[in-house]
Amino acid sequence: TTHEKIQNVEDYTQEIDADIETFPLDTPYFVDNKFVKSETTSYIELHDPATNNLVTRVPQSTDAELKAAVESAKKAFPAWRATSVMARQQIMFKFTQLVRDNWDRLAASITLEQGKTFADAKGDVLRGLQVAEGACAIPEQMKGEVLEVAKDMETRSYREPLGVVAAICPFNFPAMIPLWSIPIATATGNCLILKPSERDPGAAMILAELAEKAGFPPGVLNVIHGAAKTVDFILDEPAIKAISFVGSNRAGEYIFTRGSANGKRVQANLGAKNHAAILPDANKQHALNSIVGAAFGAAGQRCMALSTLVMVGETKDWLPDLAESAKALKVNGGFEAGADLGPVISPQSKERIEKLIASAEEEGATILLDGRGFKPEKYPNGNFIGPTIITNVKPHMKCYTEEIFGPVLVCLNVDSLDESIDLINANEYGNGVAIFTRSGATATAFQKNIEAGQVGINVPIPVPLPMFSFTGNKKSIAGGGASYFYGKPGLNFYTQLKTVTSLWRSEDAISKSADVAMPTHS
Ligand code: NAD
Repeated sequence: TTHEKIQNVEDYTQEIDADIETFPLDTPYFVDNKFVKSETTSYIELHDPATNNLVTRVPQSTDAELKAAVESAKKAFPAWRATSVMARQQIMFKFTQLVRDNWDRLAASITLEQGKTFADAKGDVLRGLQVAEGACAIPEQMKGEVLEVAKDMETRSYREPLGVVAAICPFNFPAMIPLWSIPIATATGNCLILKPSERDPGAAMILAELAEKAGFPPGVLNVIHGAAKTVDFILDEPAIKAISFVGSNRAGEYIFTRGSANGKRVQANLGAKNHAAILPDANKQHALNSIVGAAFGAAGQRCMALSTLVMVGETKDWLPDLAESAKALKVNGGFEAGADLGPVISPQSKERIEKLIASAEEEGATILLDGRGFKPEKYPNGNFIGPTIITNVKPHMKCYTEEIFGPVLVCLNVDSLDESIDLINANEYGNGVAIFTRSGATATAFQKNIEAGQVGINVPIPVPLPMFSFTGNKKSIAGGGASYFYGKPGLNFYTQLKTVTSLWRSEDAISKSADVAMPTHS
């Protein structure tokens, strides 16, 4: 891997970070269980978001390299699908243990390349590991159904792998989102081509190394690199049967449309604008703690960040306490002890977020807490923005209609529960939502009438564990939610059902003549 000097939080010093800049190693690609240096002449530079030092160069994989990854996966598929499900389970057991053993190393790679705090990066790894642990139950999950449909006839269903499948990942969860695909795609017998985000592929490269160590045969997991060109290759390559995408609407709607037009299965989780409705009967301390954590944690770069606060009635008077709590958060390099939030991913992202804050001011909203221009003492060159709270926001304002994806909370006022539901339902996104109340009746009314796909009741980031699925709604998921990540729908996505109906009739019961009417088995 490219930054072996930083394997855990203790190893990090800015001198080592700067040293990487002097000798940056290019990120290799991974094919046939080997790390290979790309022959490309086109690289994407990857900078530490806290320092803007160059960490590595990520290749735009060449056409030959992309093709080779597919050939490798195609070659591996017949033998891999023929392995027993018990053998695949054993590999998954080893893989989960290796991820656990390398937890700090994975987290350190995430903090270095993506910027989130080390504690938060450990959570990123753990939420992915839990999906892999769930996939250890694959023998149970792969079981089909059987029914005796007539006295001498039965129908059985089998789950069969699709073949070669691909995953295209976003920058904000460099371990968790690759791990939404790697375990389920491979345990079901498919060969996976993974394209991590070109902005932070380090964790995916470590996962590839661990997959090889766990016993995945060559070609079952290959990792390719690049931006839109690599995505277009995946969309048009006939051997790739299914695509898992997580990322923005801009990329995801295109990928869903073109991938589907090419006859592939596509599952695509997209952008969000998650609201928290806060009711006057809520436990104030719990509500404010939850909102501050979920709005500013990971510098707001979570698809389930609570970026929009809907204050019902007199809860608008809680704003000073909210601002005080947000102001107390420590913004610093992600390796620093006590850091609550790190930098955002890139200087361009910082500029975009600051422009959105400025647009709110221009449109008449109030900047109650302004994090623009904040620089931690040790990190003057990083992409930092302090927690920002915008109040008096109206639904037509740009800061409300656009996904900000930064440490910015926008606040709107309404007078009643019904008004909060109407406001939230009018938003085109429908990923997550939260309500804070002590009333079961209020929570039930909210839960039933709200259109978001993942509802938290006194829970700020209700991302379901792997025994359920990630169930975004509306514009937050492509294809009207035809397919979800992980859980039973995730298993369905990576398998083709086959039904076999068989008749074993004794010789003397066989009819003397053909029956030409449609068989009904009734
Ligand atoms: P992104 O869409 O910019 O990138 C995601 C992937 O798509 C990357 O691998 C990238 O190389 C590729 N890509 C980017 N632009 C492309 C284009 N024009 N054509 C083809 N491919 C392209 O997203 P991001 O900035 O990495 O991630 C942040 C976004 O992801 C946010 O909108 C966030 O809400 C969303 N997200 C959603 C979920 C979810 O489960 N709903 C989870 C995480 C992130």
